[in-house]
Amino acid sequence: MRKDSLASYRAKRDFSQTEEPSGKAAVAAGKALRFVIQKHDASRLHYDFRLELDGVFKSWAVTRGPSLDPREKRLAVEVEDHPVDYGDFEGTIPEGQYGGGTVMLWDRGEWIPEGDPAEAFRKGKLSFELRGEKLQGRFALVRLRPRDGGKVHWLLMKSG
Ligand code: MN
Repeated sequence: MRKDSLASYRAKRDFSQTEEPSGKAAVAAGKALRFVIQKHDASRLHYDFRLELDGVFKSWAVTRGPSLDPREKRLAVEVEDHPVDYGDFEGTIPEGQYGGGTVMLWDRGEWIPEGDPAEAFRKGKLSFELRGEKLQGRFALVRLRPRDGGKVHWLLMKSG
């Protein structure tokens, strides 16, 4: 586990004001990799797509949510790593706090990466199967060419 991976997550939040987890809980080893999608009604409604990797949730904000149509590629903006106990979080983040608004669990389950997920993440092409309550089957996340100083954009799509 990379120790500093959650530094950005913690820096954005005041845990005396928000009920979101601080990420201090220990991570259970040897279990299936989790994924979660949270519907987040913040300043702009979006869906937070999170894949457990190396003891944290790699996270993307997907404006329109995932699509089951392989032709519909969805923009997924990479955001800071989240603690794995965020996968059970639902609630209201107070206005004025980072991400203020309501967070609802939309789907969760297990994800099965194709190949080594850490290497695939580094290379910017993740292929995987989702075994969720809503989403099942094969999906891919593909990183787009970086833009100067901007956020890191990926495309989330259903594959075949
Ligand atoms: Mn969000």
